[in-house]
Amino acid sequence: MIEVNKEYCKGCGLCIRFCPVDALERAEELNERGIYEPIEIEDKCTGCRLCEMICPDFAIIVEEEEEKKSSKKEKVLLCCGVDRKKKAGGRS
Ligand code: SF4
Ligand code: SF4
Repeated sequence: MIEVNKEYCKGCGLCIRFCPVDALERAEELNERGIYEPIEIEDKCTGCRLCEMICPDFAIIVEEEEEKKSSKKEKVLLCCGVDRKKKAGGRS
């Protein structure tokens, strides 16, 4: 999920131009600062963070979805748990 900081974004469009999967588009209307900010197209973003890295104004943040976060956590815990059990089992 993409979050654009309206205070920092200057509407340069770099993030839109370089997104490898065209997951961003320019807003149709100017925002309160007179800028066409980027908006995310639903279900297209892969979370690669390229837009975050290239934004010259640090105005875009890629947030990991909760579902992915918890799945990663589970994998790490499972991995550690399994490894410890295997090691313990192997010694006895
Ligand atoms: S690259 Fe940054 S400043 Fe430029 S439009 Fe995207 S978010 Fe805004
Ligand atoms: S994180 Fe990657 S895929 Fe998602 S909007 Fe940014 S550049 Fe595009």
